[in-house]
Amino acid sequence: MRDSKKRVIWIWSSIICLGAIILVNIVFHPLNESLAKNNPKQESSALPGDTNTQQQQQQAQEQTKEEIVPPKDITPQEESYPLPLGKLIDNIPTKDNKTIYLTFDDGPGEYTKEVASILQQHGAHASFFWIGNQVTDELGKFGHQMIEQGNIIGSHTMRHDALGKENGAKQKSDLTQTAAFISSKVNHPVVYMRPPYGSVNKETREVSKELGEYIMFWQVDSLDWSLAHNPEKILANIKNGGVKPGSIILMHERKQTVEMLPKVIEYLQGKGYTLAALPSHPIQKETKQK
Ligand SMILES: [Zn+2]
Repeated sequence: MRDSKKRVIWIWSSIICLGAIILVNIVFHPLNESLAKNNPKQESSALPGDTNTQQQQQQAQEQTKEEIVPPKDITPQEESYPLPLGKLIDNIPTKDNKTIYLTFDDGPGEYTKEVASILQQHGAHASFFWIGNQVTDELGKFGHQMIEQGNIIGSHTMRHDALGKENGAKQKSDLTQTAAFISSKVNHPVVYMRPPYGSVNKETREVSKELGEYIMFWQVDSLDWSLAHNPEKILANIKNGGVKPGSIILMHERKQTVEMLPKVIEYLQGKGYTLAALPSHPIQKETKQK
């Protein structure tokens, strides 16, 4: 009898416990559900992934803005600089009135590394106008390093073509191809172009404007390419070439240029000039339509 009584008590206890559990579940279930419903909402507004994405997007937007309009208190070559598209630019005035621009055409090739090394040793930067079909993977990688060191690489067409003798469609195709090819090799956008032989026509201006590529000319010609047997004359040409603040100086990746480059840099720095690369963030300067 005792055993059966115990069993009855045990059974009833079990039933009551079970009932209690079910009751608790019924009472709290809707709450749980509403909590569960609320949670994803809360999470969706504070979902770590989403928030990060939003923040990243915001940061990316801010970075883009910064690229277009960077703060005013950074070095001149990093400052966004208004340049006229479709014009032949030979001088870039700067606020400090001390900046000038060495430019090297016809690379890349066997002298590229020496030129880059001499610039670095002298705390100088420069801009290089490369011929597309000379840019190997290896030179492209080196070009990327040069850019990271503060230099600029622009386009000198795919095959050193005289653009001024071509129609607009051919120029557009060449310039588009060259910029895409060089930028893929150096992993950096190409926004500057120097026409080989300085050869341009009306279409060159129009196409450059359309492509957003600035046409870079020069104010001082070192004539270095013609001075293989008289390298000293390179320095003399620069000394007598009327260098002034903002001047763009034309040189080439040549043996005699490498030979004279330290003297050229020391002379210009001795005059108080900073040798800078072309502005890394050019923006279009509005010009009157002609
Ligand atoms: Zn050239």
